[in-house]
Amino acid sequence: MNDAICEVCGKKAGRLYSVIIEGSQMLVCNECASLGKKVSQKPSKKIRFITKDEEKEESLVENYGEIIKNKILEKYKDLKEFCKKHNYKESYLKKVIEGELPLSIDEAKKLEKILKIKLVVLENKEDYEMKEKELPKLTLGDLIKEKLNL
Ligand SMILES: [Zn+2]
Repeated sequence: MNDAICEVCGKKAGRLYSVIIEGSQMLVCNECASLGKKVSQKPSKKIRFITKDEEKEESLVENYGEIIKNKILEKYKDLKEFCKKHNYKESYLKKVIEGELPLSIDEAKKLEKILKIKLVVLENKEDYEMKEKELPKLTLGDLIKEKLNL
């Protein structure tokens, strides 16, 4: 059963290629592969797995600023000491904590490791979309009301 047989010419081939010939996918030898259009050799299972992964989105916990600040003050004398030790700009960190500057996921992960806290969560994209949908629903209703002069 180890011998791969070309579905077009029937010859034994060391390696088969997955190609589309006249609309149907076939496993063919190198010679016959030129008759059709090559398709990806990756198994569909793997593709599905990637899609599943992509449905989850990394996001920051809501009160990350507070968490960072509390943990720093718990472990260090003050922000200054923490920044000195871990090569952070104090002004930058202050702004992140106050929410004046956005904290990137990468940066958050770095802080997670240093402070042993949880800042990044995997959010289901579906949940996220549902949350988003709730808002436009109201807006849409308001728009209709406005249009109908209710
Ligand atoms: Zn062939």
